Amino acid sequence: MEATAIGHTMDTNPFSPTPPDWAIKATHGVPFCCPTCQASPQAAKQVWVNRRSPVFIEGFNRRKWQEFYLCECDTPWWGWSSDRELPDWLQERNARQDAAENN
Ligand SMILES: [Zn+2]
Repeated sequence: MEATAIGHTMDTNPFSPTPPDWAIKATHGVPFCCPTCQASPQAAKQVWVNRRSPVFIEGFNRRKWQEFYLCECDTPWWGWSSDRELPDWLQERNARQDAAENN
């Protein structure tokens, strides 16, 4: 699989420090799905992860952050990263980014 495969379908870099316009209008999706059509994050056209403001979970040695999704129905919504399992490609990207930050 090419490392750039995600870039072919998404205009937004999920790890850009600047939120895309659609993310600013996002509403909290509870449970972890689109509040309009209940589609899962996998149906999202675009993804943006707010890694600049991680929230430390008390009592746990882990962070959570806001993940923003632009659904296929054009509804922007967000959820906490701790509310679902990360997809493999995102786990991989996070691991790579964390390793880069620690060096
Ligand atoms: Zn939707």
